[in-house]
Amino acid sequence: MALDSKIPKGPLSDKWTTHKNNINLVNPANKRNIDVIVVGTGLAGGSAAATLAELGYNVKAFCFQDSPRRAHSIAAQGGINAAKNYQGDGDSTYRLFYDTVKGGDYRSREANVYRLAEVSTNIIDQCVAQGVPFARDYGGLLDNRSFGGVLVSRTFYAKGQTGQQLLLGAYSAMNRQIGRGKIKMYNRHEMLDVVIIDGKARGIITRNLVTGEIERHSGHAVVLGSGGYGNVFYLSTNAMGSNVTAAWKAHKRGAYFANPCYTQIHPTCIPVSGDHQSKLTLMSESLRNDGRIWVPKKLEDAKAIQNKTLKPTAIAEEDRDYFLERRYPAFGNLVPRDVASRAAKERCDAGFGVNATGEAVFLDFASAIIRYGKEQAHVKGLNENDENLVKSLGKKVVKSKYGNLFQMYEKIVDENPYETPMMIYPAVHYTMGGIWVDYNLQTTVPGLYAIGEANFSDHGANRLGASALMQGLADGYFVLPYTIGNYLSDDIRTGAISTESKEFEEAEKNVRQQIDKLINNKGTKPVDYFHKRLGKIMWNKCGMARNEKELKEAIEEISALREEFYKEVLVPGDANEFNEELAKAGRVADFLELGELFAKDALVREESAGGHFREEYQTAEGEAQRRKEFQFVSAWEYKGEPKDAQLHKEELVYENIEVKERSYK
Ligand SMILES: Cc1cc2nc3c(=O)[nH]c(=O)nc-3n(C[C@H](O)[C@H](O)[C@H](O)COP(=O)(O)OP(=O)(O)OC[C@H]3O[C@@H](n4cnc5c(N)ncnc54)[C@H](O)[C@@H]3O)c2cc1C
Repeated sequence: MALDSKIPKGPLSDKWTTHKNNINLVNPANKRNIDVIVVGTGLAGGSAAATLAELGYNVKAFCFQDSPRRAHSIAAQGGINAAKNYQGDGDSTYRLFYDTVKGGDYRSREANVYRLAEVSTNIIDQCVAQGVPFARDYGGLLDNRSFGGVLVSRTFYAKGQTGQQLLLGAYSAMNRQIGRGKIKMYNRHEMLDVVIIDGKARGIITRNLVTGEIERHSGHAVVLGSGGYGNVFYLSTNAMGSNVTAAWKAHKRGAYFANPCYTQIHPTCIPVSGDHQSKLTLMSESLRNDGRIWVPKKLEDAKAIQNKTLKPTAIAEEDRDYFLERRYPAFGNLVPRDVASRAAKERCDAGFGVNATGEAVFLDFASAIIRYGKEQAHVKGLNENDENLVKSLGKKVVKSKYGNLFQMYEKIVDENPYETPMMIYPAVHYTMGGIWVDYNLQTTVPGLYAIGEANFSDHGANRLGASALMQGLADGYFVLPYTIGNYLSDDIRTGAISTESKEFEEAEKNVRQQIDKLINNKGTKPVDYFHKRLGKIMWNKCGMARNEKELKEAIEEISALREEFYKEVLVPGDANEFNEELAKAGRVADFLELGELFAKDALVREESAGGHFREEYQTAEGEAQRRKEFQFVSAWEYKGEPKDAQLHKEELVYENIEVKERSYK
């Protein structure tokens, strides 16, 4: 099938308005006769469900947690971007568009990104109206800070808990509709298949995670807001439950999977401490506003720190290598995540790492504490030369900005980051790849939509900080509710979709077979055994740096591991009860297929772009080297085994932005 991205004609800045003016609408009375299924109630799914219900559609919303409030979105710390230009620092819709396309290393679709920048301002108004407590400045106006890859302050935030506050807003909006009976909420339900009737998505099959019951649900359209798949790496900053199953099942039913190998490795995470770990913790990018990243200049100092015979605070200023400031003076510590991650890896690979494993760099707030402290002393008319006073005043400012993050760090690492620099290292954080969607956010299956992190849409090869929340809420509050109407306008006379069809029958059978297979396998190894091994292959051979040889090995190894999984996996308990191990087994089975496609995608892409770094393609300075021939989205069609997946290309056309060398110097 040829890919049609359905980008509206006309000038970039008019496309969205023109499109909205021309697409079909469904009148309010007819909306009452239309059912929409929304899988996922994080920021993307939650905002979509609430808005669709407010518009009058009957919404059935699903999540696997016990409440939408527990979606992974709640973990988002640093903030959400919007081109409000409240700081008067030169921001604009165009600049946000430009930064996002450049940040993504010129591998995203212009029209989608421009629309994202356009609606970004509405999101802030919407959330403020809901009562989201964004940080405010001294005068009571909304405050901003800066994130990587940009030269303006456009990030709105609520301390280090922005996702939580935004989710409470979306959840309240959903609850109003649950109260009105317009949203029927199915907590603890896991979608395990999509039902396609006459080529259109018409329903889903779910498993009730508490009782084990398999259920059929029908709708006129299905929306997937099921999040990202970073947990294919086993260790990531994602919530433990985040998985690819919903997206993967959709892929198997005809939805193309785009750019699966585009993963974001976030530079500021608490380093891995051992094999027992099941989760990694992010230290928000917002910390790079004030924290300075460094390693010792001298190898002997690095070794002494690794052996704990030298304290970082004992290293003189001139013996510290602030490598981001050195290499990228214009953006300094606020270079994009892919650039910062690679630079940290480069220093650690050269032996300058600062923890026992040699895989950590410092994130240091000492200068910020002094800077803020002096300012406070000046403002209060106190002695700016009193070192203790200045430090104490400075710490208070830092605490007011990042207090909860510092507390979290201290709890995990047992070191006080106000006194000694934090240790950080890159970790898997976000997936730019996902289900391919057109301008309307529709997948290659009519009536099946994908929003938020589940789709591939706006971030190209690298997502800029604070843009995921922006995209998820743009999709859910402001884009999908319009575009889905165009599709549903054909369904006003369809009537309720029966679940008693052969297609529902077949999909349910398919789900039951997989569950029976896993439960009856009675192997000897727990699910995590396979997940950990998959994670190791992914991290070592498809991680921050990849090459042809290792990618080929990864493909073979993942395929063999999948075979072993089906021979050896042990899933205790029963299918008709609460069985977390069974749910996990199903998710890992899907990761084992996705992982292979991921490696295959990385192998095909013979260039380095953003978060995707092929060692064979780098500049003399070790920067990513893009190639014009690869200016496309890879969209994979399911053909049975991952090795047989068929590649389709969506060529990316840049008419409003000049594709240049991506420099942050
Ligand atoms: C630690 C951390 C901090 C972050 N900080 C920021 C930040 O400051 N700014 C920013 O912009 N981004 C941030 N991000 C990224 C951002 O949080 C996510 O990209 C975003 O929240 C994803 O939202 P979502 O709605 O697409 O998916 P999610 O929030 O992951 O929600 C997925 C939903 O789908 C449901 N689901 C999944 N599969 C199924 C299934 N099979 N059946 C039924 N339901 C299913 C889940 O139950 C859940 O409700 C951060 C990410 C992490 C990990």
